[in-house]
Formats: sequence, structure tokens, C-alpha cells
Amino acid sequence: MAVSVVLYTADLRLHDHPPLRAASAGGRQVVPLFVRDRGVSDAGFAVPNRLAFLADCLRDLDAGLRERGGHLVVRCGDVVEEVCRVAAEADADEVHMAADVSGYANRRERRLRRALAADGRQLRVHDTVTTVVAPGALTPAASDHFAVFTPYFRHWSAQQPRDALGAPRSVRVPDGIASERLPSRAALSGVSAGLAVGGEAAARKRLGAWLRSGLAQYAERHDDLAGDATSRLSPHLHFGTLSPVELAHRVRGAGGSGAEAFVRQLAWRDFHRQVLAARPAAAGADYRTRHDRWRSGRAAEEDVEAWRAGRTGYPVIDAAMRQLRHEGWMHNRGRLLTASFLTKTLYIDWRVGARHFLDLLVDGDVADNQLNWQWVAGTGTDTRPGRVLNPVAQGRRHDPGGAYVRRWVPELAGVAGAAVHEPWKLRGADRAGASAYPDPIVDLADGRARFAQARSQGGTALHINKK
Ligand SMILES: Cc1cc2nc3c(=O)[nH]c(=O)nc-3n(C[C@H](O)[C@H](O)[C@H](O)COP(=O)(O)OP(=O)(O)OC[C@H]3O[C@@H](n4cnc5c(N)ncnc54)[C@H](O)[C@@H]3O)c2cc1C
Repeated sequence: MAVSVVLYTADLRLHDHPPLRAASAGGRQVVPLFVRDRGVSDAGFAVPNRLAFLADCLRDLDAGLRERGGHLVVRCGDVVEEVCRVAAEADADEVHMAADVSGYANRRERRLRRALAADGRQLRVHDTVTTVVAPGALTPAASDHFAVFTPYFRHWSAQQPRDALGAPRSVRVPDGIASERLPSRAALSGVSAGLAVGGEAAARKRLGAWLRSGLAQYAERHDDLAGDATSRLSPHLHFGTLSPVELAHRVRGAGGSGAEAFVRQLAWRDFHRQVLAARPAAAGADYRTRHDRWRSGRAAEEDVEAWRAGRTGYPVIDAAMRQLRHEGWMHNRGRLLTASFLTKTLYIDWRVGARHFLDLLVDGDVADNQLNWQWVAGTGTDTRPGRVLNPVAQGRRHDPGGAYVRRWVPELAGVAGAAVHEPWKLRGADRAGASAYPDPIVDLADGRARFAQARSQGGTALHINKK
């Protein structure tokens, strides 16, 4: 009996899964394998929130496979060694997996291909499992990737994605392939109290609810901080419990302005992947250097600490940072504001902020996190790298009633309306009620001047005297 191995990575689902479909073609037996990869933890990516979500995903995948007569095989260790070991135990002649874009994923694929070939086995890598359009499928005339989103989006929109595949009715796993125990969320500490539940079942439930009652208003409401009117599908896209191809088809099928706006956001995901695939170093180095000499030293460290703790004295920034800690997720408008505040108003290296996000975000993703941080810092693909977002004006615009701030900043819960965005202007009883809330750590005009001067002088920061 011919046997294939399916190596699951960031594609933890049964619906629309080309590697699983190809591996089981012609009635072959399949070993669905997930390796808890030592390389991922050594690189600092195995943080509690993502490990907890991953545990849910693996349990759900195993349950889905069991309903179809199979089960998941989990191993721990070096991914290449473990895949080769399982392939040998099952006497498999091929291994299927999804294509991925990071430098780590590239090295993993090369090592795996070589090691399997040495044993006479084949690695088959499938595109469009974790993206709608494969990175590298679209290129401008004179480059290996698009550096600007708008022309990329024009080409991306003209593509017809492949059809989405259904889930298999049965999966036949050979006997005798041992599995380690599935990890469990309950065994982990340091997990955010409000973390979402992982797994394909949760993803499909969320998708259904989103298509029924969220998508139609997305264009008007996606920036409404208090309304929380985005899909929250990002962790499911990150772990692959939802297929981006299926999502694009179903959203387009729904039609309307909400669908158009939403599909554009999905294209940003693919855009960042094609940048990272072409420039893997952009995960840690400026994509476009601005010769920054970011602030360092005691005062800078104190500012970073206040930012991380949600105690900068700017309510919308602090609300977003506290949402991140509590949920392991943050609204996109909050991500833009907190990242602009750190890199521009405080003039702190984007890598410091990106690391903190990766430590907490359940959707923390090398391509989306690092390249969005670079976009905001002006070292990435933003065509207006000098723009600085004003947290007071932005708070008034995107949280006009102040409900988002009051939800996350209890010190300001008693302040009514938009006045909550400028607590330093409160008087009398309001002021007294908000006394536990800190004063601003920086004057916005000073921060803006320091950033403008640094960038105009090739990255030398102006010193701001603290009152
Ligand atoms: C500083 C910063 C860091 C970020 N880090 C991450 C990250 O680590 N992982 C991550 O998935 N997203 C990241 N984003 C992008 C975006 O904020 C999130 O994808 C979005 O907030 C997730 O919420 P949602 O699923 O409700 O989004 P929706 O608004 O419902 O959008 C649907 C999907 O489109 C994609 N998308 C939306 N905006 C973007 C974007 N700007 N770039 C890439 N894809 C996008 C996401 O997959 C998202 O799930 C970051 C943005 C910023 C500014």
C-alpha cells in the first residue's frame, strides 16, 4: 500500500487543503504529521498565547481526522529529523507540505528536500495553501517583487484563484505510527485571559457569523475601535485553520462594498508575503534604511516600559496596549496608533515594538508583523514615510464616544464622552476621579519635531527635556 506523509505547519485544517488532497489521491494512506519544532522555540516564537491557540488547533484537527477514520501524529524535536523518521516508519515515498515564505521556512524546506532525497523520498511543496496568490506569481517588469501595494493589488485583483476544495470524507492512516500526546492549553501559564479559542471548527463558526452579520458593514465600520467590527479571523489565517482561498471566494460571493474592502485587506497579507519571500532579511533589517539612530539609554527604556504597560498618558494608546495584553490581539487601528507612537513620537527602534507584539499576539506573524511595523516606522513600503499619527485626533475620530478607552482604562471609566481622550484637560470632580491615570510621557509637538529632525539629519535624534 502506497503511503504519503502530510507535514502540517501553518495550515491546520481539513477543508481546502491541497497537500492532503494530493497525498491521498488514488486511495493512498496518509500520515498527517505535526512536529513541535525545536527550531521554532529556539527562535523565540513559541510564546504562551500562540502555544495555547496551537494546542486548540491540534486537538481540533485530530478530532476532525478521527471523525474520518484517521488521527493526527504529533512529534517533538528537529522538524527534518522527525519527518524523515516518520517517513521511514511508515515506508512513505513522498512528503507533502504547504509553501511558506520566511527565511526559516526556506531553510527548512531545503534541508527537508535534501534529507528526504538521501533516503530516496520526494518532497512536494504546494502553493496557495497559506496565500490566495503565490508569492512570486506576480512581479513588476524590473523587479522580483512589488514594493508598493497599489499596483500589486491591481494585479492581484485580476487573478482568478483556484477553486476551493472540500474536506475529505475519509482519511486512512497506516497502523503503528506512534504519536506523542497532544498539547493542552490548560497546561500552559502566562496565557492572556481573553484569548480566543483555536481550531478549524471555531474558525468556520466565526467565518459563518462574519459573513452573515459583519461583512456588509465592514467598509464603514472597520476603523471603529469601540465597535469591534472587524472579522477577528487573523489568528485563524495565521494558523491556517481557515483557507485564504476559500475565504476570498466566500467573501467575493457575498458581494458589496464590505466585501470589496475586506478582500483588499486579504491582499495586504499576500503583499507582505511576496515582499518577505523576496527579501527574507526584512524580518529583522530595514527594508529601506532611513539611517535612523534610534533612541537608547535610560530615558528611552522608561518610555518603552510605559508603552508596554499602557501607561503613556495617551488614553487611546494605553487602551490598545492593554487590549493586547488581555486578549493577545489588538484592533488594527490600535496597532497603527501604538506603532506610530513608539517609532515616531518616541523615536524607538521598530524592532523593540515588533518583538513585544510577537511576544503577545495570537496572530503574531513574521511577514505581517515585521512588515507592518516597518510600514508604520517609515522603513518599509509606505509611500508616505514621514506621516505621524496624532493619538488625540485619532482617538476622537475612531473612538468618538470614548467607549474603547473606558473599556480598557478603568482609571478613566468615570469620564464621559470624548473628553476621555485628553484627561489632562479635565477639571474638578472629573480630574479627581482620573487621578490614578498618568500624565503624558511626551509632548506630542516635541515628539513630532524630534522625529522630523532625526529623519532630516539622517537619523540623529533631538534631545527632549522632560518636565
Ligand atoms: C504594527 C502592526 C503589526 C501587525 N501585526 C500583525 C501580525 O502579526 N499578524 C497579522 O495577522 N496581522 C498583523 N497586522 C495587520 C492587522 O492589524 C491585523 O491583521 C488585523 O488587525 C487582524 O484583525 P482582523 O482579523 O479582525 O482583521 P480584518 O480587518 O477583519 O481583516 C481581515 C484579514 O485581512 C488581513 N489584514 C488586514 N489588515 C492587514 C494588514 N495591514 N497587513 C496584513 N494583513 C492584513 C488579516 O489577515 C485579517 O485577518 C499588524 C498591523 C500593524 C499596523
